Amino acid sequence: MLYKRDTLYIDGEWVSPVTENLIEIISPATETVIGTVAAAGLPEVELAAAAAQRAMVGEWKDFDIKQRMEVITRAADQIEELSREISQLLTWEMGAPIGSGNNLHAVLDRMRFGFFEAATQVPFCELRRTREGAALVKQFPVGVVAAITPWNTAFGGVVLKTIPALLAGCPVILKPSPQTAIDPFYLADAFDAAGLPRGMFNVLPGGADVGEALVTHPVVNMVTFTGSSHVGGILAAVAGGKMKKVVLECGGKSAALVLADAPLDSTVATISSTNFLYSGQYCRSLSRVLVPQERYGEFVDAFVTAAEGIIVGDPMDERTIMGPLVNEAQRSKTEKFVKLGLQEGARVVCGGARPGALPTGFYFEPTVFADVTSSMRIAREEIFGPVISIISYDGVEDGIQQVNDSGYGLAGAVFTDDYAAGVEAASRIEAGLIGINTQGAKEFVPCGGLKLSGIGDEHGPEGFREFLQPKSILIPDSLADEYESDGLHSSWVGPEL
Ligand code: NAD
Repeated sequence: MLYKRDTLYIDGEWVSPVTENLIEIISPATETVIGTVAAAGLPEVELAAAAAQRAMVGEWKDFDIKQRMEVITRAADQIEELSREISQLLTWEMGAPIGSGNNLHAVLDRMRFGFFEAATQVPFCELRRTREGAALVKQFPVGVVAAITPWNTAFGGVVLKTIPALLAGCPVILKPSPQTAIDPFYLADAFDAAGLPRGMFNVLPGGADVGEALVTHPVVNMVTFTGSSHVGGILAAVAGGKMKKVVLECGGKSAALVLADAPLDSTVATISSTNFLYSGQYCRSLSRVLVPQERYGEFVDAFVTAAEGIIVGDPMDERTIMGPLVNEAQRSKTEKFVKLGLQEGARVVCGGARPGALPTGFYFEPTVFADVTSSMRIAREEIFGPVISIISYDGVEDGIQQVNDSGYGLAGAVFTDDYAAGVEAASRIEAGLIGINTQGAKEFVPCGGLKLSGIGDEHGPEGFREFLQPKSILIPDSLADEYESDGLHSSWVGPEL
């Protein structure tokens, strides 16, 4: 056993939970218990809600944004000091390879720069003057935030929800996935050492019962959720009934549209690396690849070569490119879809089974399906495993139509040598984030989903704004003149004018 956390972080203290229930964390690579975490229950939801409610009107409210940034920077410094340990933990929890899958340096970069740059682009008090009259538009924290996170983004996803909320002035009650319940404690340790005021960050590891109790709790003003579209829909219905704000970052079935002039090697390398990252358990995986029919055979062969070259194995080994899936349920789901794909008439041209050389651990081979059509379930449903479906299209119109023939709208990419044609095609794709010859979320732009992929945004100034509630104060022109002569336009003036 490597990790043990028997207390919960609530109201700036380490608290023993009422029950002695423990969550066991199983390593996807060894199938052994690598740690235990105290499970929160309903009494701890009450404690955290009360703490967050007090924190809402506590000292953090009067911190200006620079002071808030200083605390967060100190926390980032502590995380950097422990980065090797945290990286190893993430590999134990998720099976993401230590060499490429953890991305802790990118998380730290966001904590130190990305979130600050986004937040400081949003004026907390703005003077508006129009023919209709003048007004101040002031921004206030939306209130207590319940953050519910999945296992596949683990630490990075927790940070992504927490830092913008804190910068906006919102106390956070975090319910991480039980699969990755240890890593958020490192963030709690870091905030504790950095002097974050009590109650501003609380961690309640637990299952659906804890999540539901948070979503329905009267103290919680906003729910920010990342996870499956199924659970997101349930939470949206419950939260909507209570008039709570929701931001939902849900599932996807994102497509790569390969235009006729796309370079073979770099296109295949980009798509296969993002697809097999985290063993396909990445929400923005380009799991559907649309290839022009005249280049179909060439691309199928190249994807087979790329998939065969992926080193699958121990995620603690620096050379490993793809580790195991997160648990048996995820592997069984992948197997079920492979069977389904074959029944539907698609052809497995690479992989499709458990690797014989790795009998322990939830491993599955990098898998490529050819002869897939857009009506097949393997092309429509989120598998969340290391499976690429290659689909042919006849002309750009047909390609775009097939890309958009999906219930999801999370992300996508267009591969081409003609950047203008790429932007033209990207503008017609129904998704929240589309890369030209690239893929993946960036901190400076909003990355929200359309259709079943979610509601609202994360990242960028738009993601930060989700944690703010505007209030408009209509003022006489004479007062607007005074503000203007005092230099107030559209700039940061602190939480209180
Ligand atoms: P999940 O929906 O099963 O669980 C997500 C979280 O919700 C967990 O903390 C879980 O304990 C909690 N939960 C489950 N049922 C609940 C309920 N009834 N009430 C309250 N909370 C509940 O998702 P998962 O399997 O952990 O994660 C994988 C999914 O997340 C995939 O669909 C993936 O696409 C999606 N995802 C999306 C993004 C994005 O940015 N759009 C990012 C990462 C993951």
